[in-house]
Amino acid sequence: MHNPLANMHIRRDSRSNTFGMVRSNDSQAHQGWDLGAPVGTPVYAISDGSIVSVQNSDTYVKSTKAGDAFGKHVTLEFTYCGATLYALYGHLSEIWCEVGDPVSEGWMLGLTGTTGNAQGMKGEDQHLHFQIMTGNQINHGLADKVDPGAVLDPLPANQAIVDSDPVIQMLRHMIPEIIGHH
Ligand SMILES: [Zn+2]
Repeated sequence: MHNPLANMHIRRDSRSNTFGMVRSNDSQAHQGWDLGAPVGTPVYAISDGSIVSVQNSDTYVKSTKAGDAFGKHVTLEFTYCGATLYALYGHLSEIWCEVGDPVSEGWMLGLTGTTGNAQGMKGEDQHLHFQIMTGNQINHGLADKVDPGAVLDPLPANQAIVDSDPVIQMLRHMIPEIIGHH
C-alpha cells in the first residue's frame, strides 16, 4: 500500500478528524480521515486498481446530496485481502484521471484543494478527505465504510472505532496486529 499523501497527519491532530463516531459529542460520524495538506498537495493511488468515479466539478450547496460535500473527488477501486474496496479522495482542486483508467500504486491522481464543504478553509484546516468504502456509492453513516487504519498504517490512536460491516470484521480478523494498535 502507498499512502494517499507523502506526509501523513490528521488535520490539527484532532480526534474529530479521524474515523468513526467522533463528531458532535460522538453522536455524528466522520467517514474517513482528514489529512492536513495545503492546497495543491499531490495525492497518490494507494494501490493498483482502476478509477470508478470522478466528479470534476464543484457543485456544493449546503444540504444537497451527500457526494457534493466532497466537491471534486475521485474513487479508486482496489483489492485488499481478497476484498474489493473503494478509496475516495475528496475536496480536490485538480483531477488527473478519468473513469475507467487503470492505475498503479503510487500514481498521482490529482491535487488537494478546498472544494465541496471544505470551501474557504485556510491554513491548518486545508486537507484531503480520504475514506475507504465497501461499495462504490457515497452516502451517510459508517455502515459501508472501513477505517483507513485497517488498510494503511494507523495514524494517531485515540480514535473511535465503529464496525458493523462484515467486510470490516473480516479485515480486523485478518490483520489483528494492526488492529491491536487501536
Ligand atoms: Zn472529512
